[in-house]
Amino acid sequence: SRLKKYYPITAGLFRKTVGHVKAVDDVSFDIMKGETLGIVGESGCGKSTLGRTVMRVLDPTEGKIMFDNEEITQYEGSRLRSIRKNFQMVFQDPYASLNTKMRVGDIIAEPLTVNKMMSRQAAQDMARQLLERVGLRMEDAARYPHEFSGGQRQRVGIARSLALSPKLIVADEAVSALDVSIQAQILNLLWELQQEFGLAYLFISHNLAVVRHISKRVGVMYLGQMVELADKSQLFSNPLHPYTKALLSSAPSIERGAVREKIILQGELPSPSNPPLGCPFHSRCPKAMDRCRSERPALAELYEGHSVACHLY
Ligand code: SF4
Ligand code: MG
Repeated sequence: SRLKKYYPITAGLFRKTVGHVKAVDDVSFDIMKGETLGIVGESGCGKSTLGRTVMRVLDPTEGKIMFDNEEITQYEGSRLRSIRKNFQMVFQDPYASLNTKMRVGDIIAEPLTVNKMMSRQAAQDMARQLLERVGLRMEDAARYPHEFSGGQRQRVGIARSLALSPKLIVADEAVSALDVSIQAQILNLLWELQQEFGLAYLFISHNLAVVRHISKRVGVMYLGQMVELADKSQLFSNPLHPYTKALLSSAPSIERGAVREKIILQGELPSPSNPPLGCPFHSRCPKAMDRCRSERPALAELYEGHSVACHLY
């Protein structure tokens, strides 16, 4: 069933719950082995919460998470730890996510020794091989994170995420802090690793160009809801949801000669603690009708592989 992740809002001395932030509200999708699903949306739309909930770092408020035909939503303790090896995360800021007092060889080897999967020596050997695999040198194992550039640190973060041979990597704004030329290198590295290891990526970003580059399918989120989900080519050539159209129209176009009418969204992004009734986008939608203010549109497949949540269709 569809995923929900609500955070309670508390107030007063006794931290009474006065409402909920609906960070993820009724979202459903699947990711195939070796596939990249991009999730795009403005900051605060719930995409990071979605990634963490899928990995079972956060417990969903409602809904089911399936992995290899196995429902893992209720897993706890050692069962949860063993299934979680299949999921790794690559973060926006590798500097904040790497232990700066450790040598990178130890940083990469740590997941292997913590789980007592191999000896310290074997783990170190593997760390050196992983460093080479992500485009660094084996000798770099002896260096510390501050001795690397941002792009190199992201390579270290990727090497660490690969140590436990995951099946799914959740990349949350993984290249957003990097220069554009470095972004392309890291995206290419991720692509190569996907080909080699059959990895699936849930690639989360506010950056449409980056999502377009790496994804096979793309989901668009707005206020905790998935408003459109389609193959990349469909989504970019034939966007259906008024929010997707607005997003695409405001992104710099890299195709020569493509002239898109820029759609300016009226109004502020509403707070996820007080989302509008009906369609979450109605307060800013140029096509809003009466029905949109009271009735929430469900995500429905309009063409094969192209779903949209909008009363226009
Ligand atoms: Fe706009 Fe209505 Fe469609 Fe929502 S359901 S996107 S308000 S037209
Ligand atoms: Mg985020």
